[in-house]
Amino acid sequence: MTLQIPFDNSYATLPERFYTRLDPTPVAEPALIRLNAPLARDLGLDPQALSAPEGVAILAGNRVPQGAAPLAQAYAGHQFGGWVPQLGDGRAILLGEIVAPDGRRVDLQLKGSGPTPYSRRGDGRAGLGPVLREYIVSEAMHALGVPTTRALAAVTTGEWVYREDKLPGAVLTRVASSHIRVGTFQFFAARQDIDALKTLADHAIARHYPDAAQADRPALALLEAVVARQAALIAQWMGLGFIHGVMNTDNCSVAGETIDYGPCAFMDAYHPETVFSSIDQFGRYAYGNQPQIAVWNLAQLATALLPLIDTAQDRAIELATAAVHRFADLYAERWVMIFRRKIGLAGEEPEDADLVQALLSLMAQNGADFTRTFRALSHLTDAPGRDEPARAEFTDPTAFDAWAADWRVRLAREARPEADRQADMRLANPAFIPRNHCVEEAIAAAHQGDYAPFERLVTVLARPYDDQPEATDLQAAPQPDQVVRQTFCGT
Ligand code: AMP
Ligand code: MG
Repeated sequence: MTLQIPFDNSYATLPERFYTRLDPTPVAEPALIRLNAPLARDLGLDPQALSAPEGVAILAGNRVPQGAAPLAQAYAGHQFGGWVPQLGDGRAILLGEIVAPDGRRVDLQLKGSGPTPYSRRGDGRAGLGPVLREYIVSEAMHALGVPTTRALAAVTTGEWVYREDKLPGAVLTRVASSHIRVGTFQFFAARQDIDALKTLADHAIARHYPDAAQADRPALALLEAVVARQAALIAQWMGLGFIHGVMNTDNCSVAGETIDYGPCAFMDAYHPETVFSSIDQFGRYAYGNQPQIAVWNLAQLATALLPLIDTAQDRAIELATAAVHRFADLYAERWVMIFRRKIGLAGEEPEDADLVQALLSLMAQNGADFTRTFRALSHLTDAPGRDEPARAEFTDPTAFDAWAADWRVRLAREARPEADRQADMRLANPAFIPRNHCVEEAIAAAHQGDYAPFERLVTVLARPYDDQPEATDLQAAPQPDQVVRQTFCGT
């Protein structure tokens, strides 16, 4: 069967200064690690054809499929707060876009596909570890219900990449609503290329926020919509203990998806100052800082959009500032909605946020595992007495008892059957998250040619809210010698 990918490319029709056209660089010996068959089918692609040699050649960048318009996108960005006027796809190639049977338009991008004019000193390649990590974590995020880029496939290249160590090379095929970043807007704003800025805004609006086109000020409506999506996204991250690790403006998607999984991680023991990224020395992107950083990033988007918002700069600043300031309320609303559900409350009372905060403080003081504590809470009964699984997460279990007494007083005011509450809590508190030490173990095994732990992790994480008795080992918090303290960038 010949493989047909029904490309329908729109980014490639934008002016030439938006990108550089070039093909992926072929690799020595492509071999498929995993094809995401359910995702392929959702996109209207034939999983069998994609897994056949012709398909694998495409996924490795050795063959450019018919209808593709391969290009590397230009963008800029603030990295750890420092301005970099030119970044761009240094190790990725956008093959093109397809419109899925459900009408969604998505990018198909190869990551690790060879050097581009934006590679600076990089080799344009990706190591096996980072590719597997992005595959595992992005697919887990999707299954957890978080907007995210997806992983369609991972292949090895038969070549080595040289980082601190010599690593097998790999290519990830990434699917995204788009790869338009805050940094894409910054790229043109910094060059005072207002025409390009306008073209990009129109493109982003048409693709992601069509309602904004009807607004009096479409660029302001675009900003407001991105603020709302980012507020909802970050609240979801916080509800799962997810730490992105590199929230630079070039890693901030205008579509509101989680993008660019580098040194990301889920927390084990809860602490708001948790940082994993080896390159985040000052804790800029710590768990608890993520909402403020999102605001900082959105302020950069606002700054870039000013010329499109109003020709009078004062007025533009006033409107854009108000739009960015909306984040705080939108985020707080989402956050309390998520955490209320996590502790089993269906109704709303003004003190609910305090009850959640009290639990989080105790968790931080007692080294409680974020995921395990909330999951354990989901199984507790309305009446006290069988609280051991939750208590066991606290170094001082009596600290939990005091909170649980308050919690049950609050629960008593909810007219909801216990079983309904428990079932709903299980849908808000996953049993499975991609724990760092499990991800690291899967990568270490893959380096030895054993992909079974990777396959198992991906399979279990596809159903994160289900109890899976055969996989309780993947629910365990790390033993002291398994704790991962640092994660490394996706390069
Ligand atoms: P990221 O870590 O994904 O945020 O990447 C930051 C910038 O560095 C982007 O412009 C990437 O394209 C570029 N980059 C990262 N790794 C490489 C690499 N191995 N080769 C070339 N460019 C890279
Ligand atoms: Mg990036």
